[in-house]
Amino acid sequence: MNKSQQIYHYIRTHQSVSKQDIVLGLKFSLPTITQKLQYLEQRNLIDTSRKIQNTGGRNATAYSYVKKARAAIGVYLTGHHINCVAVDLSGDVIDMTKERITFNLEDEAYLKKIGEVVERIKNEAEISDEALLGVGIAVQGLVSEDGEVVTYGLTLNFTGKTREEIARYIPYNSRLFHDSSAAGYAEVWIDHDICNAFYISLSNSVGGAVLVDNNIYEGNTQKSGEIGHMTVVPEDGEQCYCGRFGCFDTVCRSTNLDQYTDGNLELFFALLQSRDREAERLWDKYLDDLSLGIHNIRMLFDSDIILGGYVGAYIESYMEELCRRVDERTSFSDCARDFLFPCKYKVESAAAGAAICFIDEFFDTI
Ligand SMILES: [Zn+2]
Repeated sequence: MNKSQQIYHYIRTHQSVSKQDIVLGLKFSLPTITQKLQYLEQRNLIDTSRKIQNTGGRNATAYSYVKKARAAIGVYLTGHHINCVAVDLSGDVIDMTKERITFNLEDEAYLKKIGEVVERIKNEAEISDEALLGVGIAVQGLVSEDGEVVTYGLTLNFTGKTREEIARYIPYNSRLFHDSSAAGYAEVWIDHDICNAFYISLSNSVGGAVLVDNNIYEGNTQKSGEIGHMTVVPEDGEQCYCGRFGCFDTVCRSTNLDQYTDGNLELFFALLQSRDREAERLWDKYLDDLSLGIHNIRMLFDSDIILGGYVGAYIESYMEELCRRVDERTSFSDCARDFLFPCKYKVESAAAGAAICFIDEFFDTI
């Protein structure tokens, strides 16, 4: 990081500081700090309008960072919805919207709707053209390294589609992201204590992302973390959407639970809370299969493991039981509660992650 970036992040972390605080915290010379602060102020990235109250003497200027100086938009295209969020420089979701519509990239009306949703959230969140860093589009599929092409989109049958086609009605800088990678990236970005992690997305399909030193490890062909297709039931397993049998996806997708409640996962967990026998039976089986996947991942990576996706948003109350089952499988003495965590972004993590990538890039330009 250059000195401007270091000063900017110092202010960002400490919320409101004096020039003297920065001198003491970063050990740069006063002229250097004064010059860099002027530069940050000119770019409207910091606010100097407040004073720090001193007892005696002059009140010093308080430097604080302007969260809304820039923003990014994230869109997540699922089978039946267009989900969209606006995210500020601290990674907070400042606005979100959801439009129910069937995924169909061949339909011009659908493509127009994506553009409309983006425009709506841009207006609602009051993001000017100058402040908008970009629009990240998370999709249920694998994406080329440059974010331009869907290389594997079997769940929704859109392999080969390009960013240009999908974003035809988005007149801003945009890029495609694999949904699990974007969601995993958001989790590690927001939690400064995590640096190596495996993110498991437990939604209608199961995905994952490998994060090493706070960066996504994509693999040689952008297929790393595809745990949905590990074979976990080698004999008599159900058929997966990939065509194979017994994939991890077939036992840990969220539909295994909400098929009991007509696709309503919230209702499933409400029934589980009220000790419904069938819900308990399905959950017991689900936790067992999930603990197997978690155990295998832990043996491979020795990293933190974050549970996200639709089921991850509900799993907090069941972590103790899940950790117990993971511990039963371990060959070592480590405890799952020290490495296994529920996700922090309970809603729209994929959309938020797709937006956050632009924020991270912006920090590099300071
Ligand atoms: Zn599969």
